Amino acid sequence: MTYVNQSLYEEMLSYLRPMGTGYEIAFLLLLQRALLTLDQDIEVDEFGNLWMEQGESQTLFVAHTDTAGSSEGYRKPLLEGGFYKSPDKRPLGADDTSGIYVLLTLIEAGVPGTYLFTRGEESGGLGAEFVARNLGDALKKFKRAIAFDRRGSSSVITHQAGGRCASDTFAEALSNQLNDLGLLYMPDNTGIYTDTAEFTELIPECTNISVGYVKEHSCEETQDWGFLQALAQAAVRVQWEELPTARNPGERKVHATLRGKVHTTLRGKEYPAWWDEVPQAEDDVAQAFIAWDLGDRGPMKEVLLSALPEGERGMYRPLIDVDLLTQDDVDDAWYTEDFEDLLTKAWRH
Ligand SMILES: [Zn+2]
Repeated sequence: MTYVNQSLYEEMLSYLRPMGTGYEIAFLLLLQRALLTLDQDIEVDEFGNLWMEQGESQTLFVAHTDTAGSSEGYRKPLLEGGFYKSPDKRPLGADDTSGIYVLLTLIEAGVPGTYLFTRGEESGGLGAEFVARNLGDALKKFKRAIAFDRRGSSSVITHQAGGRCASDTFAEALSNQLNDLGLLYMPDNTGIYTDTAEFTELIPECTNISVGYVKEHSCEETQDWGFLQALAQAAVRVQWEELPTARNPGERKVHATLRGKVHTTLRGKEYPAWWDEVPQAEDDVAQAFIAWDLGDRGPMKEVLLSALPEGERGMYRPLIDVDLLTQDDVDDAWYTEDFEDLLTKAWRH
């Protein structure tokens, strides 16, 4: 019987743990104990991220320790028909307990790698941002950073935080390996944001892999337990060091953190009833996107108007019609930050 097993998973899943809460601290102690049971060589950086290294490797494995939303507490999850569910009106927290489970499985199996357990991903990648900013030199030895923090069961993420994070060559090779092990993965360019987005200027291939949860950040979040086990076992057999490296890490500079902060908390999510209010974003532009998601188009019009010279805004106000914009137009603007283009599309001719 292995130490990293279903009962450890259930115990970890019992903690709802936004960063900075007592339950997060309790969870970090639980995780530290698990790592010590598996290996003695743990390091904790100044932000509180946990590191563990074994063997010779150029692979960084990443999962985050916090859960989404503001709810904290300890409660056992439900297991129904092979799926874990929340027992109450709060998120399950498989995001990203499932990623941690995969990393622990790899450690127990002796797979060479550096293992990074980050804090504060759900607060905008705070732990990963700390690492990129303060420990960047240490990251340069890696050829690939693999997060296990993606919904669904088939994604090898090639784009996130508004740009490319991994090459197709890499994503296809990893998908092929996983598929040879009985899974069904493919490159996916629709990633939103996770910790590895912070490393794209330092590490060539930065991806995120589906771990089998869906509807994360909501009370309807579920986790396919059979899938998670299959993935963890397959991950043990993947030849990580043989994956090709094709992306140049210098090719892209984006404000991953700012975008991520708004993205992870606010964009593309359902707003479940247990959220009293939508969290505050950092600036008017972010507010406009949030409002758009919630069905209020007014703030977007103001953002577009603000792209015009101040003295002309009143004159052009009647000509700007945000109802002309499609969801795709707005999504494009989110990624490109090209409001002039958006303005042109909203112009009534
Ligand atoms: Zn996550």
